[in-house]
Amino acid sequence: MKTPKRNLKQLLICCLVAASNLLFSQGLIQQTVNVLRQNASHDTLVGCGSYELMKHADKIQSGFLKAANQYLENITNENANRKKTSNGIMQIPVVFHIVYNDTSANLADSVIQDQLRVLNESFRRQNTDTVNTRADFKPIVADSEIEFVLATTDPAGNPTNGITRTYSPTKYFGGVLPYDQTQAQQIQNWLNDSLYYNYFRITQDSLGGRSAWNSLNYVNIWIGDLRIFEPKFNNFEELVYFGLATPPANHPNWPTTIYNELAGFQEGILLHYPVVGSNNPNTFPAPYVPYNSLVKTGKMLVHEMGHYLGLRHIWGDGNCTMDDFVDDTPRASAASQYNCNTTLNTCVDTIMGMDLPNMIENYMDYSSGNCQNSFTQGQINVMRNVIETRRPYLIGIKSFKNSPESLFSYYPNPTSGKVTLKFNDTDTDATIHILSIDGRLIKTQYITASSKAELTLGSQSGLYIIQVQSESEVFAFKVLKK
Ligand SMILES: [Zn+2]
Repeated sequence: MKTPKRNLKQLLICCLVAASNLLFSQGLIQQTVNVLRQNASHDTLVGCGSYELMKHADKIQSGFLKAANQYLENITNENANRKKTSNGIMQIPVVFHIVYNDTSANLADSVIQDQLRVLNESFRRQNTDTVNTRADFKPIVADSEIEFVLATTDPAGNPTNGITRTYSPTKYFGGVLPYDQTQAQQIQNWLNDSLYYNYFRITQDSLGGRSAWNSLNYVNIWIGDLRIFEPKFNNFEELVYFGLATPPANHPNWPTTIYNELAGFQEGILLHYPVVGSNNPNTFPAPYVPYNSLVKTGKMLVHEMGHYLGLRHIWGDGNCTMDDFVDDTPRASAASQYNCNTTLNTCVDTIMGMDLPNMIENYMDYSSGNCQNSFTQGQINVMRNVIETRRPYLIGIKSFKNSPESLFSYYPNPTSGKVTLKFNDTDTDATIHILSIDGRLIKTQYITASSKAELTLGSQSGLYIIQVQSESEVFAFKVLKK
């Protein structure tokens, strides 16, 4: 990867950035993102795009953020009343979709397995660095009892190792910026109109990515090159986000219009390929070299999984007045700067009678992965509650079965477009998903107290997967549309 030659104006920007006590120089898009953001300079770091995605959703449907915060607050209040969510290990199937143009992004299985190890150790508080959690925080941190396993069956019921590999003609899922640095307004419009659409192309076969496996049943994790290519800016390859996650499925007020706008937008987590695993051979080129020692620990997925399961950033994406809606996390006036600064206590708060310092140990901070080792009990309550109420099928479905004869029959197959499901039980409740052959969800249909369901396949001819989902199992079979 070539390091771009930087012109005088850029150098000036770099100096200003350095002078304002920021660690790393930034590119053109980052400058504009900063202008769009109303927050303080801490947001100029490369970070995570999850909150920005929520703000984007709020722009499309006003009130989204407010509803999202209210939702979190309700969970916290509810937990305060009943003290604890359900006990026991929750096991969640995950699938990693590796989408690569350059072979260096086609990560080895060993990197994915290492990433899964870090994810599980972190969620189960089994990582060796938990000894570094400061004494004041020891009473509030815990084992989430949430575990992640590589999927063993795909949406059609076939065996899988939980990793898909897709070559893509698309090199930069951040997109290609058609403007130069004199076109600030156009860049701002481009960011508003195109950036998230560009990223989420990775979740769609037809846009150079890999379509999701039914997100009700799997956590989809896409790995690819999330940089933006800037041909009119000395071919700069700009990194704005290490990763991002969509908020919980069926999130109250998650705008349906965002689905339309993003044309096939899929739920899941997106990661820039060098941040995956702690044994990843890829490194960040200039000007992002300093991140190599700070974020290549495999903890970025822990952070994004926290978002996927409902958590906000620990500093509330604002100053001391902003809350993350979790009672036992201390407030902070800003994100950490990818460091491990234990001297800061930027906000006054009272947790168990103490004014706790900034919690750089928390996975939901922007501290270095080298000092992140904890979720608090309050955060764990939120995540478990979100799984139980918003993503229940992630833990409810133990296996996919492909021999449904004892429960129902289906006909005709092949078909010209319609399929009838006939249940042996006359009082069946089920959720039926129609998926494309690669596992992309096309539509969902619910039946209640019925013996029959009439399904209409998609417009294209070819094979379709039908999933019939009860509370604890999924039956899957294929039908051919002529
Ligand atoms: Zn984040």
